[in-house]
Amino acid sequence: MHPHDFPELREGVRQVVSAFDSRYWQEVDEARAFPEKFVTALTEAGWLSGLIPEEYGGSGLSLAEASVVMEEINRAGGNSGACHGQMYVMGCVVRHGSEQQKKDLLPRIASGQIRMQSMAVTEPTTGSDTTKLKTTATRKGDRYVVNGQKVWTSRLQHSDYMLLLARTTPLAEVQKKSEGLSVFLVDLREAVGKSITVRPIRNMVNHETNEIFIDNLEIPVEHRIGEEGKGLKYILDGLNAERILIAAECIGDGYWFIDRASTYARDRRVFDRPIGQNQGVQFPIARAHVNVEAASLMRWRACELFDAGQPCGAEANMSKLLAADASWEAANVCLQTHGGFGFAAEYDIERKFRETRLYQVAPISTNLILSYIGEHVLGMPRSY
Ligand SMILES: Cc1cc2nc3c(=O)[nH]c(=O)nc-3n(C[C@H](O)[C@H](O)[C@H](O)COP(=O)(O)OP(=O)(O)OC[C@H]3O[C@@H](n4cnc5c(N)ncnc54)[C@H](O)[C@@H]3O)c2cc1C
Repeated sequence: MHPHDFPELREGVRQVVSAFDSRYWQEVDEARAFPEKFVTALTEAGWLSGLIPEEYGGSGLSLAEASVVMEEINRAGGNSGACHGQMYVMGCVVRHGSEQQKKDLLPRIASGQIRMQSMAVTEPTTGSDTTKLKTTATRKGDRYVVNGQKVWTSRLQHSDYMLLLARTTPLAEVQKKSEGLSVFLVDLREAVGKSITVRPIRNMVNHETNEIFIDNLEIPVEHRIGEEGKGLKYILDGLNAERILIAAECIGDGYWFIDRASTYARDRRVFDRPIGQNQGVQFPIARAHVNVEAASLMRWRACELFDAGQPCGAEANMSKLLAADASWEAANVCLQTHGGFGFAAEYDIERKFRETRLYQVAPISTNLILSYIGEHVLGMPRSY
């Protein structure tokens, strides 16, 4: 067992997630519903406030421990995509918020009184080229007035607060294009239906996500997080934790697929023998297992650096890439091993297959990770 395996923590999370069986996940998937009972149960058990410091009502877990929570959800057949925002979006307030913001929000997030699991960064016309985003926030006295459009803003209908990244100084007026962007807290209960119009996007997975139109949204100055113009840095500061937690979800998926595939390969008899006796079936499962294990080691390494307060950008990105690739490989192998039955919804494989595919694209696409490694680790020219 790896020293970071945290058996008691795993057992604690399993006790909560095991109450949500295959039928539960199939029903919410079919209804395209938000898994409300599941998210509430995890919140009430305190698992989603792990990264909130104890002085603000959280349990102050390390990132390594928090990653086990995400891993166990997916390993049990669930989908952390519905709740991972609650675990890390508030990190921006923890790191850069004022004392007033922390005292106001963190204890209420920890207790489950409010949810803040939505973050509006991506825009339809600029995509991965974040510094070119077009939503503007213009200061008018003690308020900012925001106008623009966002896309893929997830879990908005199940959040009370949302983080918003907008440009406060025009691109043409900043020295570095990463400057002049600011982060704001948006009180969704006040804004939705008035200055924010929401258009849900039906998508390949059961992921609550939206296009939003922002029209003269007024935000009080005290809802800006940190300094004006430094918002991109604040968002980027949170991304290492996000990458590592998503890697852990992929690792949980990977183990789930391998477990299902190897069990089926042992049990399913065709041509008078278990299909897993054929090396053409067995070896791809074994290889996928090797890759999930390797990705998990990179996850522990990234967690170790993060929890020691050391730079971990390269490791966080590498763990996300390896884990997303490993879970996708395991998903393909699992589907193939099940033959036709893999396509039947009651086996859960087609659902998990769709869910894990997302991580090649979001929250950062594979190519953008490779370009980060090429540029920042290997010193090659920036490719964009
Ligand atoms: C279900 C879902 C939920 C999401 N939730 C959120 C959310 O809550 N908040 C939020 O802000 N965003 C969210 N996103 C958005 C997500 O972060 C983006 O989809 C992702 O960052 C990619 O951006 P894009 O879709 O605009 O693709 P683009 O930037 O248009 O890229 C398209 C393709 O081209 C490739 N590409 C682009 N430029 C280069 C280059 N220079 N070199 C090599 N390849 C390149 C990319 O890798 C990608 O494969 C979500 C997306 C999905 C699908």
